[in-house]
Amino acid sequence: MTFRLAFLIDPIPADDPRTDFAGTISPIDPDAPALSVSDLSSNRGDGIFESIAVVDGHPQETGAHLQRLAHSARLSDLPEPHTAQLRAAVEAAAAQCPPGECTIRLLLSRGVQHGGPGQGIHGPTIWLTAAQAPDNTAARENGIKVVTLDRGYDSGAAARAPWLLLGAKTLSYAVNMAALREARRRGADDAIFVTSDGYVLEAPTATLILRRGDTFLTPEPTGGLLQGTTQLSAFDWLEENGHPTGYEHIPTAALYDADAAWLVSSTRLAAALTHVDGRELPVDRDLTAALNAYLLSPRD
Ligand code: PLP
Repeated sequence: MTFRLAFLIDPIPADDPRTDFAGTISPIDPDAPALSVSDLSSNRGDGIFESIAVVDGHPQETGAHLQRLAHSARLSDLPEPHTAQLRAAVEAAAAQCPPGECTIRLLLSRGVQHGGPGQGIHGPTIWLTAAQAPDNTAARENGIKVVTLDRGYDSGAAARAPWLLLGAKTLSYAVNMAALREARRRGADDAIFVTSDGYVLEAPTATLILRRGDTFLTPEPTGGLLQGTTQLSAFDWLEENGHPTGYEHIPTAALYDADAAWLVSSTRLAAALTHVDGRELPVDRDLTAALNAYLLSPRD
């Protein structure tokens, strides 16, 4: 039987002093309709979310995910979420997850627009879902092929046009999903977005880490991409194991000369890149296995 659950969460102000959230987190049928047809998440993709991995009942890096949700809310002019309430919801959901890997998604939409455009908005709407995670063993053990895809903006876009919300994890993922379909049309498993002036950004649902010599690098998070919680955690582990890490503007050409590279994300964890644009990359199987063992251990 596949496991799924859903909670509807009554939004409370971020400074509400209560510590007991009973009555504000309601289990709902994950298969029954729950959102208004006027909710701005479905009408405009206007909202933010987080995907949190659960391993054997332990939600991974809840604090980092809730911090990023608050950051996305600030960038998107959404009300600041009540972190302790959302943590309680995540913990209640994780406690019901079966052994193995599950994914919790926490979603916050601007709310419901009564009476159409220009009218008042009642919101936000907050809900959570949990389900068994897909089996990612093949990507973790055998690696993946990627192609680079032009993201259509240059490396100055995030600073020049903050309204593009490039550092926020918004619900508008149609472009990211289109990029994954394009990658598959080109015979690859995944894509890496690059800027129009030739710098590496990120994958549609993952962060890039590459190794140059003994140093592990990831693109500067200020340059129009989402800062990954898995990358942050992986860098802590790499540093503890004596490997220097750093943030850089990475030219696309540097990908082809990397000594190894990975896409990392909360659910798939670390997948080594075997090919970039058809060119083979060296794969460090031992390090990939050790990194994934760490990422599967309980992390806070
Ligand atoms: N970049 C994008 C665009 C993403 O959607 C994600 C996760 O879904 C990531 C990076 C990786 O983030 P995390 O490691 O927190 O899952």
